Amino acid sequence: MQDFNYKKSLGQNFLNDKNVLTRIVKAVPFKDNSLVIEIGPGSGNLTRELASVATNVVCYEIDDRLETILDEALKDFNNVHIIFEDFLKSDIENDLKDYKYDNLYLVANLPYYITTPIIEKVINSNLDFSYITVMVQKEVGERFNAKPGTREYNSLTVYLNYYFDIKKEFIVSRNSFTPKPNVDSMVISLIKKENPLPLKDKEMFNKLLHDAFKYKRKNIRNNLKNYDLDKVLKILNKYGYDLTVRAEELKLEIFVELANSLDN
Ligand code: SAM
Repeated sequence: MQDFNYKKSLGQNFLNDKNVLTRIVKAVPFKDNSLVIEIGPGSGNLTRELASVATNVVCYEIDDRLETILDEALKDFNNVHIIFEDFLKSDIENDLKDYKYDNLYLVANLPYYITTPIIEKVINSNLDFSYITVMVQKEVGERFNAKPGTREYNSLTVYLNYYFDIKKEFIVSRNSFTPKPNVDSMVISLIKKENPLPLKDKEMFNKLLHDAFKYKRKNIRNNLKNYDLDKVLKILNKYGYDLTVRAEELKLEIFVELANSLDN
């Protein structure tokens, strides 16, 4: 790896701390017949750990300069398949169609510049991920896990909390990476909720979240001015709020109830 020219634009900060790699894999409760997706295997350091415990590992790596490095790093494993492609452009359902598995996982030290699009793509796919354990920028991890009424709470928090229980695993210092990034990191797990709240229309829920949080300083009356405000008010009143409340104060259940009461 000494001569490798790391590309900052691709989020190439590789984990060089064996202890952290082990802790990431230990955080995932692997079950029999498991398929793991890894986005951005880099030099294969996390991939090796995953291949030792999972039945199969499928990786997406955008940078084909890493091909020989990965071939060498993974030569002892015959259960790893690497697809050299931009994950955001991939057809995951099609790539996985020949795999038989009982449990699907996503485990990755994510390229931070595309954390949100990756998570959205994974959630919106038709694949049933039972456990997602990812390394993200510490501040982003705080947002995933934020409580209503805090500065970090935003539409992505509500969206993720609809589908998953969020578990903060541990903080990773910037010193654990080569090259050293300017930020610290957090490993976080998203654990699929077995019984998410009933939702009539997921599109409506997404649109409502997007609109409700659109202008951070504006209240619900302003951000949702194109909605049926009588209906919105009725639900807010039930929870002790009125139209002057801001979206960041409202918990998941209220957004679900609002989305279910509104028509397109
Ligand atoms: N897994 C390695 C580790 O833990 O050290 C590398 C992680 S590094 C933070 C992120 C990796 O994602 C890099 O290898 C980078 O080339 C890759 N990457 C960046 N953008 C990508 C994309 N759109 N699709 C797939 N891989 C990508």
